[in-house]
Amino acid sequence: MPLLARMVASPIAIDVRRGAISSLGTVLADRRIANEGRIAVAVGPGQGPQIAADLDLPQCEVFRVDGGSVDVATELGKKLRAGAYEAVAGIGGGKTIDVTKYAASMAGIPMVAVATNLSHDGIASPVSSLEHESGKGSYGVTMPTAVVVDVDYVRAAPQRLLRSGIGDVVSNISAIDDWELAGREQGEPVDGMAVTFARVAAEAVLHRRDSVDSQDFLTALAEALVLSGLAMSVAGSSRPASGACHEVLHAITHLYPGVSNHGELAGIGALYAYFLRMRYQGEGESRMRDIRDCLLRHGLPVVPSDVGLDEDQFVRAVSYAPETRPGRYTILEHLSLSDDDIRQSVGEYVKTVGH
Ligand SMILES: [Zn+2]
Repeated sequence: MPLLARMVASPIAIDVRRGAISSLGTVLADRRIANEGRIAVAVGPGQGPQIAADLDLPQCEVFRVDGGSVDVATELGKKLRAGAYEAVAGIGGGKTIDVTKYAASMAGIPMVAVATNLSHDGIASPVSSLEHESGKGSYGVTMPTAVVVDVDYVRAAPQRLLRSGIGDVVSNISAIDDWELAGREQGEPVDGMAVTFARVAAEAVLHRRDSVDSQDFLTALAEALVLSGLAMSVAGSSRPASGACHEVLHAITHLYPGVSNHGELAGIGALYAYFLRMRYQGEGESRMRDIRDCLLRHGLPVVPSDVGLDEDQFVRAVSYAPETRPGRYTILEHLSLSDDDIRQSVGEYVKTVGH
């Protein structure tokens, strides 16, 4: 009989709740991730000492992760290899988790992602986004063995970081449209299971009327980010969560380092991509309205000036965007607009979605 189902790689434990960090050792032991307590803990520079004090892991060794580069990750990977640990827990925001995922893959040990903010969908994905000599790259890594979100820490994170995960998760809808476009135009295989996970994640957040002030909303957002990570695991790439939206964000990050953050820029990228679909293909208008309303409801930026860019800078980023992900076919590659057309579209975009 043929195998009529497939195995989906996924974390063995997902724990989204208050106080999750203080019982991390119990989770690791109960799940047989680390039986002897030989655990390495990687923490970011900000909350490091406080987190280490909160842990119930008497024997753990704490490493401080300073930055989000391939070099920092390689350095940590070497230390993990040398120490013969059973597992490593990466505790912190996006950078710390991405660095730890990469280092754990290098050392060949399981990694537990412990998120202290909800700024992007890397918490459960098999992808590390790291800086290198000439920009930022996405590296395939083993997905986290367990994902822990401590809602108490999340609540204490800066509001801007908290909200930005909303932009990252709703951008899935645009990424899926790009994937389906590539399927029609280029014959690229589209994975229905990955699409299902990615879209359900976005829809779970898109229409909610409550905000990051509510515990229910934070739980929904955390679960949506985890589900996005699973979508990428199923697809074997970032495709279900990264299209034109992320090409624009990577271009902005490359050209104007330090401007805004991942989730906020993904949200703007998705909104602009829908504007292009509406303007040049006559479709996607209601999606554009949904995403715009969602971003504004949560106080997220929608136009370039909201993140401190003028229209010319945004035009340059859109024009550069396809180069950030060679081989990825999106609405940008499909329309292949001239710089003049891009300039005109950005002007109209600002008039249409501005507030
Ligand atoms: Zn993203």
